[in-house]
Amino acid sequence: MIDILPIHTQRTAASRLESVDFAHIEFGKVFSDHMFAVDFINGEWQEPQIVPYGDMVVSPANSALHYGQAIFEGMKAYHQADGGVALFRPLDNWSRLNASAERMCMPEIPEELFMQGLKELIRLDTKWVPTAAGSSLYIRPFMFATDGFIGVRPSFNYRFMIFTCPVNTYYNKPLRVRFEQKYVRSAEGGAGYAKAAGNYGGAMYPSKLAHDQGYHNLIWTDATEHQYVEESGTMNIIFVMDGKVITPALSTSILDGITRRSVLALAHDMGLTVEERKVSSREVMEALAAGKLEEAFGVGTAATIAPIATIGYQDQDYDLPVAASNAFSHRVRAALDAIRAGEGADVHNWMVRV
Ligand code: PMP
Repeated sequence: MIDILPIHTQRTAASRLESVDFAHIEFGKVFSDHMFAVDFINGEWQEPQIVPYGDMVVSPANSALHYGQAIFEGMKAYHQADGGVALFRPLDNWSRLNASAERMCMPEIPEELFMQGLKELIRLDTKWVPTAAGSSLYIRPFMFATDGFIGVRPSFNYRFMIFTCPVNTYYNKPLRVRFEQKYVRSAEGGAGYAKAAGNYGGAMYPSKLAHDQGYHNLIWTDATEHQYVEESGTMNIIFVMDGKVITPALSTSILDGITRRSVLALAHDMGLTVEERKVSSREVMEALAAGKLEEAFGVGTAATIAPIATIGYQDQDYDLPVAASNAFSHRVRAALDAIRAGEGADVHNWMVRV
């Protein structure tokens, strides 16, 4: 246990809240009034602070800018039916952030520091948590190297920060995706399981090529054979084939998504067969041809569930059947939405009050 109390708080003199049109927020462009920041210097976490959201001064020689020593998380807080605010599985994000930190030679963030910073920040900006159905407060915890040193070695000093953005319901337009069989997002033994900045920068070029061809996302495949499904865009991917819920097994090249985990747990609760194993592009296309591919969808914090309507494979597009109203993806989406709004029975104790 480290003693991190109290968090030094400097409130904004001029809240921007009144200027925000909550009905028309573009994702990631509107930031709440405050941000949390704490420095790691000489092997110790310093006094944490909450300050007005704004630009900051960093060394132009820091290893985050040059060598990608930077990691992040993405999570959400939800307005509750009784008027309060609750976080969805925050300790899962905390432990994944520390798994990323270990992979990138960065210091471990103590649970109390993460949770207390998070809760106090959201309490202070509680009016920024949108109340409309389906909306939420997106939370971005992140850590980066701060040494002013250009040599290639792990930085000694770091900053851990959190800021938040109100977000609206993500419009789940049916996705056009295609199997990527040339470029890779990550390889076994690489850092794909970490939310490390460079994984995202490296994925932009192949994603741009797919966008230019009219696809929303790629289905990434393995780095060796370019056959086995990994993820879709920045989401994990789940198939319903022949009545079973099937998803690629986790590996060092796949991000261990918290939505994925939650959807699989709810599938178990619904009595469905869940398989976490290798899934090849060929298996998916053969199931589609045989009428056995019932659903395919991406799962992640931003969209929750993003149904796939069309899959491109070897230069041809194939349409999936339209999911029935009682399809698994619809039922699991409704169950997750209810838990997050404080309306459904939270049997797994996923929600944490702020
Ligand atoms: N894969 C990648 C590469 C991601 O960036 C994300 C988003 N964090 C996910 C999967 C989904 O993870 P989660 O459900 O925890 O948001």
